Amino acid sequence: MNIESRLAQIGSQSDPQTGAVSFPVYQSTAFRHPKLGQSTGFDYARTKSPTRSVLEAAAADLESGHAGFACSSGMAALQTIFALFKQGDHLLVSLDLYGGTYRMLEQIMSRFGVTASYVDTNDLDALESHRTAGTKAVLIETPTNPLMMITDLAKVSAWAQKHGLLTIVDNTLLTPFFQRPIELGADIVIHSATKYLGGHNDVLAGLIVTKGKELSAEMAFLHNSIGAVLGPQDSWLLMRGMKTLALRMERHQYNATRLAEWLKTYPAVEEVYYPALPHHPGHEIQNAQSSGNTGIFSFKMKDARTIEPILRNIRLIAFAESLGGVESLMTYPAVQTHADIPEEIRRKIGVDDRLLRFSVGIEHIDDIMEDLGQAIKAAEREING
Ligand SMILES: *Cc1c(COP(=O)(O)O)cnc(C)c1O
Repeated sequence: MNIESRLAQIGSQSDPQTGAVSFPVYQSTAFRHPKLGQSTGFDYARTKSPTRSVLEAAAADLESGHAGFACSSGMAALQTIFALFKQGDHLLVSLDLYGGTYRMLEQIMSRFGVTASYVDTNDLDALESHRTAGTKAVLIETPTNPLMMITDLAKVSAWAQKHGLLTIVDNTLLTPFFQRPIELGADIVIHSATKYLGGHNDVLAGLIVTKGKELSAEMAFLHNSIGAVLGPQDSWLLMRGMKTLALRMERHQYNATRLAEWLKTYPAVEEVYYPALPHHPGHEIQNAQSSGNTGIFSFKMKDARTIEPILRNIRLIAFAESLGGVESLMTYPAVQTHADIPEEIRRKIGVDDRLLRFSVGIEHIDDIMEDLGQAIKAAEREING
């Protein structure tokens, strides 16, 4: 069945007792056993919980994986995955990384003796030169945020497999509607479901999808043992958001493409970072491995003095962190989302004081364009006196 249909039908045929089209919220944490040695399949809600189970099965299906695990946030999902590693293990990680992931690796995992090297994950020579005897996995974001760097997932997964490394992909920005890393050779997919999957800036959640029985069993052990699981209410809210994922992603992509093309021609704008633009590095790889583009892009102004007035003058577009919701949000990575990444690394990759990141919502394109246009014009007027 096509993914649009599978998304719309999440949980709709999963409650044979009542026929409920919207799968119920099972709040119970304890489950009665029929008799000694028998179980309904549910014992205690940290291990397995009915509403969460429907969400987890949907996640595994959408990402073409073996099993899904719903966590209390994207960071909780990453922490659960990182628990696969032990003292002395080493990870190869995308250079332009989500700030929270960088912080967890550098300030938490490092205490447990797990280290990471940050490299351009699309460059096999760079990966090879940083690989050590302790290297266990490659962690990839593609596209990265905010610079939208693209990694060829089939190429890197094949390289990783050859060296016995796990390939872990953070698929938050594209979602399974546009990109399915496991089909391209990855072992584990992680999502901040807080973003596009939830889609409405109203539920904090993370998802893990694993390939194969063995890895799934290991993840099930960690998920239950660590306990950073998603509650039933939030599981329900996330499924409700996911039902409209296809429609939302198509509109996000349409709006972002129109805006990126328009800004590319705008004289006060130096560069636009968006994989749908033909000049973008990795444009061809992105087209080959994904069926569409995210609703996020970044742009660099020529003059840093325009940043403050742009953020002050936007009205429809909110100046706020996060991304992937129906509402347009704009953020300033150097001081917000990427503040935990050392200035030296930020500069090396180009996250500087002239860069803005735009999570384009599903509002009418004309309204978003008009708002951004008036904000940039107001900023230009201010700096030119
Ligand atoms: C937001 C985000 C995370 C962290 O997810 P939370 O749900 O905020 O904990 C991880 N990776 C990416 C790419 C993100 O955008």
